[in-house]
Amino acid sequence: MRQPGISRDLLDLLLKIGKSQHPLEFLAIIRDHDGILDELELVPGTICGEESASFSPHMLPLRTGLTGSAHSHPNGVLQPSNADLRFFPSVGRIHIIVGAPYGADDWRCYTAGGQPCTLEVI
Ligand SMILES: [Zn+2]
Repeated sequence: MRQPGISRDLLDLLLKIGKSQHPLEFLAIIRDHDGILDELELVPGTICGEESASFSPHMLPLRTGLTGSAHSHPNGVLQPSNADLRFFPSVGRIHIIVGAPYGADDWRCYTAGGQPCTLEVI
């Protein structure tokens, strides 16, 4: 499988949303076209609380072409939480975490298994 990329516009938008929602989290579903992630859909709820993950996969838009997810960590930690690791496999194969202070390098990409991966910014 070809390593997917992400459009710079989408990445900028994710960082911008993260900043605008701070100190709250946001969660979005992301989609790709021809291997390039370039579309997002915001989903209500949050997944990062270790106590009670209030996000439920049942809230996901039931559409095909789901590639993965993107969400923010207002604490700036760019590692997936335990809740994230439980959530990732149900929502596709590419998972982006953006974190405070939401600068150009304040994001990471993970596989469904929680392994760091690289995304080419296009
Ligand atoms: Zn998280």
